[in-house]
Amino acid sequence: MKTIGVLTSGGDSPGMNAAVRAVVRKAIYHNLNVYGIYQGYAGLMAGNIKKLELGSVGDIIHRGGTVLYTARSEEFKTLEGQQKGIEQLKKHGIEGLVVIGGDGSYRGAQKLTEHGFPCIGLPGTIDNDIAGTDYTIGFNTALHTVIDAIDKIRDTATSHERTFIIEVMGRHAGDIALWAGLAGGAETIIIPEIGFKLEDVVGRIKSGQKRGKKHTIIVLAEGVSSGVDFAKLIERETQLETRVSVLGHIQRGGTPTAFDRVLSSRLGGRAVELLMDGKAGRAVGMEKNQIVDYSFDEVFSMPHKIDESMYRLSQELSI
Ligand code: ADP
Repeated sequence: MKTIGVLTSGGDSPGMNAAVRAVVRKAIYHNLNVYGIYQGYAGLMAGNIKKLELGSVGDIIHRGGTVLYTARSEEFKTLEGQQKGIEQLKKHGIEGLVVIGGDGSYRGAQKLTEHGFPCIGLPGTIDNDIAGTDYTIGFNTALHTVIDAIDKIRDTATSHERTFIIEVMGRHAGDIALWAGLAGGAETIIIPEIGFKLEDVVGRIKSGQKRGKKHTIIVLAEGVSSGVDFAKLIERETQLETRVSVLGHIQRGGTPTAFDRVLSSRLGGRAVELLMDGKAGRAVGMEKNQIVDYSFDEVFSMPHKIDESMYRLSQELSI
């Protein structure tokens, strides 16, 4: 393999830039040519492709977002769209592609691989919802952002003796809520994998009040309910003034943590090694601090699970 490409796709996450940098630098170190594909699969079909040099990825290791931009494309889900993409890759002499993105982006990469174009996937999403890796690129940074917000909300919640619902990202995966809730000392954590019983949530608020707690913090994953609807339920049941804070897109941004930069660099480096070794259709991850890779099929067939013991611990610690 002489020439590879790299793109970022789907939802952006902090650390994607560090991963792009690792792919580009590792490739050039090993005398490969490397092209950046801009705006994900949409840009691939449109031919937004530029050769990258060592300097193209200078000064980006610490920046959130993605310098290659990202996009979503319905057209790429069709065979015609994928063929358009492959034509563009061939036109530029690109022989292998690193795709940095979430589950949907992996499906696109799997399709290209099935059509004979070798792709390697890197897990770029803040949700931590990809199997075959303990952590996804950006999860750790998002967690720090959420904890920072919880700490600040805790100050005002204590001063005003209020109940606060903090709605965090996570449509199907509760990792952000679970980890941030545990790290932020939330009284209650509500995640899609487990759901909630209203009487339990209310019971916890009331027992906290009885022993003199001045405030309650509930961390809610967006996939379960909107914070506003949930607050109405709590107010109805407790008659307590309940405030909502929806953290939204701030969770996607910001300077990647050292952990995410190291993870991105290691995963990006391995992606290039796999392509140089003639591998295709593999997703790279980190398990127990070792870099591993699985076929896309394996990743799709292993359900991402939350650690239920962590959930139980959070309940034990927040009595
Ligand atoms: P993420 O990668 O963050 O999960 P999406 O689910 O939006 O984000 O996927 C990103 C892009 O990947 C989609 O816009 C689409 O172009 C491509 N994609 C998603 N699913 C498929 C599929 N089944 N086949 C081909 N391409 C897909």
